[in-house]
Amino acid sequence: MENLDRLAIHTMTTKPWDLPTAAKKYSEAGVPGVGLWRQWLDGRSLAESKAILDDHGLTPVSLVRSGFYPYLNETEKQAAYDDNIKALDEAAAVGAPQVVLVCGAKPELSIEENRKQITTGIASLTDYAKKVNVKLAIEPLHPMYADCRSAVNTVGQCNDMMDEIGDEDNIGIAVDVYHVWWDPTLKAELARAGKRICGFHACDWMTPTNDFLEDRGLMGEGCIDNRGIRELVEAAGFNGWVEVEIFSKRWWERDQDEYLAAIKEAYLKHV
Ligand code: ZN
Repeated sequence: MENLDRLAIHTMTTKPWDLPTAAKKYSEAGVPGVGLWRQWLDGRSLAESKAILDDHGLTPVSLVRSGFYPYLNETEKQAAYDDNIKALDEAAAVGAPQVVLVCGAKPELSIEENRKQITTGIASLTDYAKKVNVKLAIEPLHPMYADCRSAVNTVGQCNDMMDEIGDEDNIGIAVDVYHVWWDPTLKAELARAGKRICGFHACDWMTPTNDFLEDRGLMGEGCIDNRGIRELVEAAGFNGWVEVEIFSKRWWERDQDEYLAAIKEAYLKHV
C-alpha cells in the first residue's frame, strides 16, 4: 500500500494491549482504523468504549465476532440467535458498520446439516441487521476448521448462500487471506462476489504452522500473496479497509511497540 489511510488493526492482533492502550498506540502510530474484538468492550459501557475510539480519532471498521449458528437443541439455537442480536446492537452502539460472522459447526452434525443451519441462522438476522444498519459479514474459514469453527469454507459457498438468502443489502463477505489463499476458484468467486465483498483481512501463513489458531504470520513472513489477493478484491469493486488480523503467540511475546512498527512496514511493503 502507498500510505496508511486504509489500515485497520484488529485488537486481537496486539492482544497484550487493552482497548485504551491499543487506541492510544494506534493513534500515535497513524493507524486510522480498528477492528474491535468483543472482549475488548468488556468492563465498561459501550458508550465509554466508543468515546475511547472517538478521543483518539479512530474509526471502528468491524466488530468481531458472532455467528456460531449450528445447534443440537432449541436452547442452543436460541442462545446463538440472542448472541447475534447482542453483537449487532454492540456494533451499532460503537459505530462499527459490520459484524464479522464465524459461522460455526458442530462435529455431531453432518456437514450438510451444519451448512443448512448456518444459512437459516443468517437469514433469520437480516431484518434486525437492517433495522440497526449493521452488515452481517460472512467470513469463510479455512476447511481445517470445518469440524467445529465454521462449515463455511470458501468464497464460492458464501456466494451460493447469498444467492439463496437473497439479501444483498444487509449481508456481505469478509475475505480473510488466511482462509482463502489456497482456493483454486478464488479469482472467479471474488469476481462473482463483486460488491458483496465488505471486508479484507491480511496476515500470512507460516511454514511450518506450529499452531493452527495462534501461529499466523505477519504479511511477508509466509506464502500468501497478500498484494495479489488485494488486487483481486479491488478488481471486484472493493475499496474499503485492510484489516490486519494476526493471532500469534510468537508476536504477542515480543515488544508490542516494535510489533506495531513491523505491522506498518509489512503493510506498506506486502499488501
Ligand atoms: Zn478474519
